[in-house]
Amino acid sequence: TARRLHGIPPTVFSAMSALAVRTGAVNLGQGFPDTDGPASVLERARTALLEGRNQYAPGRGVPELREAVARHQARHHGIDLDPETQVVVTTGATEGIASAVLGLVDPGDEVVLLEPFYDSYPAMLQMAGAVVRPVTLPAPSFRLDVDALRAAVHDGTRLLLLNTPHNPTGTVLTDAELAVVAELAVRHDVVVVTDEVYEHLVFDGRRHRPIATFPGMAERTLTLSSLGKSWSLTGWKVGWATGPAHLVDAVLAVKQWTTFTSGSPLQPAAAHALDHEGDFPLALATDLQRRRDVLLDGLAEAGLAPRASEGTYFTVTDIADLGWSDGAAFCAALPERAGVVAIPLQGFYAGDAGRHLVRWAFCKDEDVIVEGLRRLRGAE
Ligand code: PMP
Ligand code: GLN
Repeated sequence: TARRLHGIPPTVFSAMSALAVRTGAVNLGQGFPDTDGPASVLERARTALLEGRNQYAPGRGVPELREAVARHQARHHGIDLDPETQVVVTTGATEGIASAVLGLVDPGDEVVLLEPFYDSYPAMLQMAGAVVRPVTLPAPSFRLDVDALRAAVHDGTRLLLLNTPHNPTGTVLTDAELAVVAELAVRHDVVVVTDEVYEHLVFDGRRHRPIATFPGMAERTLTLSSLGKSWSLTGWKVGWATGPAHLVDAVLAVKQWTTFTSGSPLQPAAAHALDHEGDFPLALATDLQRRRDVLLDGLAEAGLAPRASEGTYFTVTDIADLGWSDGAAFCAALPERAGVVAIPLQGFYAGDAGRHLVRWAFCKDEDVIVEGLRRLRGAE
């Protein structure tokens, strides 16, 4: 393979889900729900297929989805977007990440990102030849260390890659923390790419505030999101990138040569989800909070001390609580010992800081979580 790929490991999510299927283990690893999203959205996909929405969509995406995305950003976040120039539909947020990095980062450019990081970020940054400057969210609080961020961002920083609500820690950055990010980005003239795929999935009365809404940020922020998590349709791979035209154009410049355009028939259905099933993510968040609590209680009973995650699908534990030190070894042994799959955080860190950390997903059906927990207790 090409040198740009050397040293990038295979994605841990595929490996761990394959392990769950192979061993019949309960999959508390990869973040996808057991129950599909709203029936009316599935129905709209069916009619779109039968109506003949089956040829190439425009490169930027079908107008009705771009308009629905603009309405969504206005309704939830007070963000004004021109659907003609400030929205591009992507094949999941994953394509948004890839296109943003390839479209905005030159070899040798410095990119600041939060660590632990979602695994596609370092892979894409390596392919682009970026110099990665991780800012670690220190365990066990996983709050933003604003001093570390101040030390990392300078006039030479090309890009700040943000993710809130944050996978894997479940941290939701506070307005005060985001204000520091914004202040640094403006002061040092840095572009921010922000991955907000969990924007609606926040708990205990919290609110997610997009960094694009802070002073001076609208013109320098590219926001990425998708249908997958908020509408329980992770397999659809429908996402969007929004922001000033020059940043959206950078995504489009890459996208036209990688996918050209995203699949047509699911786009009207995604528009239907945003326009007509707008309450679904809010109800999902309430339900997820309950399932989070079931998982937290069960993990505590199993001898772990989980932190109450503030958002997302996930919570992180320290397996030192159980006398283990290597998360990869722990997760490799777990299907055999307990019949459960979880995700080791090694691959989410540049160095060794995540060796003893393991991520558990609570986006699964409650009976699946309960069964996973029963197995974990039995394995002690
Ligand atoms: N970013 C983060 C932080 C994620 O957890 C995920 C997984 N959904 C993605 C991006 C990818 O999203 P999509 O499936 O829409 O490509
Ligand atoms: N985002 C999901 C997770 O973190 C899964 C995405 C993937 O499998 N690449 O588990």
